[in-house]
Amino acid sequence: MIIESLELDNFKSFGKKTKIVFKKGFTVISGPNGSGKSNIGDSLLFVLGVRSSKTVRADRLGDLVHNPPSGKKKKDYCSVTITINTEEIGKPEEERIIRITRELLSDLDGYRSVYSINGTRCKLSDVERLLDALHIYLDSYSFVLQGDINNIIKMTGVERRKLLESIAGIEGYDIQIAKAKDD
Ligand code: ATP
Ligand code: MG
Repeated sequence: MIIESLELDNFKSFGKKTKIVFKKGFTVISGPNGSGKSNIGDSLLFVLGVRSSKTVRADRLGDLVHNPPSGKKKKDYCSVTITINTEEIGKPEEERIIRITRELLSDLDGYRSVYSINGTRCKLSDVERLLDALHIYLDSYSFVLQGDINNIIKMTGVERRKLLESIAGIEGYDIQIAKAKDD
């Protein structure tokens, strides 16, 4: 499975529609301080359904909407689309491609998230189920953020076990068991 591209529209510092295409292999994003490298990482977590705006370095979801330079009107939405190629053997090329979009749309009390998979609106739980099937776990260490290494070093034994369980994919089953007990 590979990420083919990220499309940012009005997200954080990306006021212009920007498509970032990833080639196969290892990708490094370089640039001067403040040029938006980490914002690209934030857009990846955002589109995959991160729940807390703090994880993407924003106090509120609305802070993810691009703030234009003074004098320009602020648009009241942003969106990110990720294109994943599952590279599933035996499937025709067009069926291997999955596109997930998350939009922020302005609402009476701020902003709300709208998700879609391959152009069809869906719930966050549908995105989460899909990511689970693709073995992409937002809260495990598929994504190593700034400060994470320090946190791992400082973890207690129990915390470290929980981390390993989440990486091994056991955590998802625990959540399903807890939900089944509630129902
Ligand atoms: P460093 O090398 O220091 O880690 P970086 O390339 O990772 O820098 P980012 O943290 O991605 O930089 O980008 C920071 C920039 O993004 C800041 O200039 C900040 O003002 C800008 N920014 C963040 N949110 C918004 C927003 N909503 N609208 C416009 N600009 C924004
Ligand atoms: Mg950075």
